[in-house]
This record gives sequence, structure tokens and C-alpha cells, in this order.
Amino acid sequence: MTAMTTKTTAADAPTIETPAGGTTTPAAPAASAATAPPPTISGHRGLQLEEPLIFELDSPGRPGVDLPPVPAVRARLGAVSARGRIGLPDLAEPTVVRHYTRLSQNNYAIDAGFYPLGSCTMKHNPRLNEKLARLPGFADVHPLQPVETAQGALALIDQLAHWLKTVTGMPAVALSPGAGAHGELCGMMAIRAALEDREGPARTKVLVPESAHGTNPATAVGCGYQVVAIPNDARGRLDLAAYEAALGDDVAAVMLTNPNTYGLFETEILRVADGIHQVGGFFYCDGANFNAIVGRVRPADLGIDAMHLNLHKTFSTPHGGGGPGSGPVVFSAPLAPYVPFPYVVHGDDGYTLVETRHCDHRGGREFGRIKGFHGQMGMYVRALAYMMSLGGDGLRQAATDAVINANYILARLKDLMPPTFGDRCLHEALFDDRCLKGTGVTTLDLAKALIDEGFHPMTVYFPLGITGAMLIEPTESETKATLDRFIATMRGLIGRAQAGDVASFKAAPRLVPRRRLDETAAARKPILRWRDRG
Ligand SMILES: *Cc1c(COP(=O)(O)O)cnc(C)c1O
Repeated sequence: MTAMTTKTTAADAPTIETPAGGTTTPAAPAASAATAPPPTISGHRGLQLEEPLIFELDSPGRPGVDLPPVPAVRARLGAVSARGRIGLPDLAEPTVVRHYTRLSQNNYAIDAGFYPLGSCTMKHNPRLNEKLARLPGFADVHPLQPVETAQGALALIDQLAHWLKTVTGMPAVALSPGAGAHGELCGMMAIRAALEDREGPARTKVLVPESAHGTNPATAVGCGYQVVAIPNDARGRLDLAAYEAALGDDVAAVMLTNPNTYGLFETEILRVADGIHQVGGFFYCDGANFNAIVGRVRPADLGIDAMHLNLHKTFSTPHGGGGPGSGPVVFSAPLAPYVPFPYVVHGDDGYTLVETRHCDHRGGREFGRIKGFHGQMGMYVRALAYMMSLGGDGLRQAATDAVINANYILARLKDLMPPTFGDRCLHEALFDDRCLKGTGVTTLDLAKALIDEGFHPMTVYFPLGITGAMLIEPTESETKATLDRFIATMRGLIGRAQAGDVASFKAAPRLVPRRRLDETAAARKPILRWRDRG
């Protein structure tokens, strides 16, 4: 939890000596004494142990290891030599182990419970993938080792490229981008390189629908383009007339998210592709939500020129606090010569990595590299293990199940919570706060109440432009029993709000190590550095 940067609402909570000698403040008292958990002497609450900052556990002179005394040497650092303690805490090993273990237990995780965070695709990461990623030949491979000694790793990279090209129908792929947003940058840099090759820096604009993920306009601006926002229509899709009116020979690209951030398929996508191609621009598709359509739709058949895939969403590699992302980009034939280094080729003498123009087979028109070394090897192993263990039919089934699960939630909630756009969705269900109108309870209050019920809240206040948005993505990996429990909880909470029980919402969450945090202060005035109070 973010105890370091935030504060509880406790006005006069007592200060408590912790067993390790630090001081800490217990959670705030609840609004009503009847609902407040009883205070404890230790500050702990059952298995919920109160945890100070590691600096507060400092016990000067109690190091975790004994080091031999430093031999007398002639100091040559002069004025820059250290004159005192450098401010790191002295701690015994068990104190360190317990500190981090307790912090980890304060975290909610996909391995702990249902995590319906829309747009994030927090699905189960099969343990088989983890086992394979830990094989020493993959886990210990070094980016600088000679390629003759890394043939298996290169074969895996080559095979992953093959699978990604096959499921998208696209002829080329850049594997190295380290996240979805990084993939967008890679795709747009390839588009810019291709356009400048053809006609110089003539085009200045990129069209981005208002429903886009925020990374899309940021990427376009980062590549030096001016963003032209295209509104949505009443169905939550791109307004085709506004789009066509904005097209011109100064437009470099359109960046369309499909399925879009409302959880809907962009039904006019073929006309979007035709329009941008007619004016000589490229079609960038944000494919972060490919998990909704993988195995059912091939992006190549939609006229897409470049699209990133989030291995950490669609292909089930850990993310959030759990691991690095990976955002490969697939490309159409006109952009293939601009795909950045490195890429793997297979010849008579095995696999080689193409890293310089000198050995480029494609005429050397790529923009360079997008990342040091070759990308996230561990994510490559997990993603390929996931795809091969599911197979083509299994991937299709996963997408189908993700869509069915989201529609099940939508169908079971819609009488109490009207969905924002119609009563069908793809992989995520979008609601807004109309169901809370006049109750005094906000979307945020509802999310906080879900924490007490043992659920990670859904995504709130995103997508932007939807009032009090609630975006729920169950993913395919949840059982009907879990979904039913979540649905029953949501129905109970909405019912409670509509019955006028505002106070219980404003007091939530009550059953957690930290209560309502001042999130604005935490974001605006973060305390990033420990200052010794002594
Ligand atoms: C998650 C997401 C991104 C960004 O991906 P990161 O890996 O977080 O950089 C971009 N677009 C959409 C639609 C997303 O859902």
C-alpha cells in the first residue's frame, strides 16, 4: 500500500510503539462506532499486521551481515568522501524479510482474487508459462552472448514472431518494444520513416478518436504530429462523417483503438482503412484489446498497417506490479522495410540476429532500434507457451469466453445499472453513474465499498468523457461462481445506495490497512524521500 505518500483521515489516532521500535499510526477510526473494528493494543488487527516504513525500523549498529574491517587505505576522494551515515537503515535479516513479506500481503493481486480492472486484462497467468520461463537456457540467456550459444532462444523468438504474424495475418513484426505505449511509438516511427522516405516531412496531422486510449495522442505528439480529435457517434463508435471530413493529404495516419476503449468493435473499420489509404496515409490500430477478437478476426483483413499487441494482456504474461510489459508491433507489407532492429533470420548456418544495416536483407530503411538489446525474453517465453498450449482453437475460445463473461455481467446488471452504449459488448462492459443519480453516492464511493467486499474495484472515471465511468473486464479466466458473487455484490451495493445509505459508502473502505486516502494530495504532493525526524 502507499502508506509513504498518503495519509489516513485519522484526526487524533494514538501513536503506537511497534515491536521493532518504530512508531506508527493505526488505521483511522470508522465513522460509526458500531461498525468500527475494536482497537488493539499492538496496532495490528488479527492477521493484518501494521507495517512501519523500513526507515522507521532502523536500528543503528545492527547490520544484517558482518563484514571484515576495512583496511586502512589512503583516501583519495577528497571533498567528496562520505562524512557520515548515508541514511540507509541498519536491519537484521529477519526484520527485512518480514517487512517485505508484510508489504506484499497488503497488496491485492490477480493470484489473490477477482480483478475486474477494465482496459487492463488482468487474467490468470498459467503456471506452465512461469515454469518454462524459468528454464535456465531462457532465464539466464545474456543479450551479449554469441548467437551460436543462444540458438534455442533465437528459435523461440523466431517462432513467437511466426505465431504473432499468423494470428494477425501481417507479414512483419517488431518484437522488442517494452510495452503497449512503446509499441505505439515504434509503429508511428515506422510510419513517419516510410512517409518521409516517400515524400519528405509533408504530413503534419494524425487523426485520433476521442474514445482513444490516452497513449495514442501522446504517441502522435511525441512523433511530432498535431493531433486532430475525431468525435464518437451516439453508438460509441467513431463518427465516420467527422472522420472523412478531417481526411486530407496533410494527414499522416489515423490511430484507431479496436475494440475501442468502450469495449465495442469499430463497425466501420473497413471504411476507416479505405479513407486513410485514399489520402496516402497509414492506418495505425491500437491492438491492446486484441484479446477480445484473437482467433476470430485477422487485423490484416481490416486494412491495418501497424498494430501493437500487448503480450501482457492478450497473451497472459504478468503485468502491473507483476512484471515488465511487452508490446510487439505487427506491420503491413508497405511498412515491413521500416521495422526496427533487431530481427531474427534463419539460414543455412542457423539463426542469426540482424542488428545493423550492414547485414540487413531489406535494403536498410528501418529507423534504427527502439530498445537496447532484444526485448523482454521472459515475456516471449510466456507468450509463446500460452499460445502453443492453447493452440489456434484455444485462443479463439479464450476470446469467445472473455466476451461471454463480460456480456454475462452486463446482462445481469443492466436492470440496475444501465450500460452506457447498448446492451451488447465485447470483452468489457461500460457503465456510468446514472444508476447513482440523486443518491449522494459517487462512482468512487462504490469502488471503495467493493474493496471491503474483497474485490479489486473496476476501472473508474475511464474512459474520459463518460460521466462517472465504470469499466468492468472480467476476462475469460474467471468461473461463473466468481462472476455471480461479484454480480450479487454489485447489485447489493447499488441497492444500498439507492436506499439512501450514503454514510456506509462514505466510510468505506473500513476493513483494510489504510482507509480513504487523500489521493489528490498523494498525486500532487508526493513525499518521495525519507527525512529523518530525529
Ligand atoms: C493498456 C493499453 C495501452 C497501453 O499499454 P501499456 O502496456 O500499458 O503501455 C494502450 N492502449 C490500450 C487500448 C490499452 O488498453
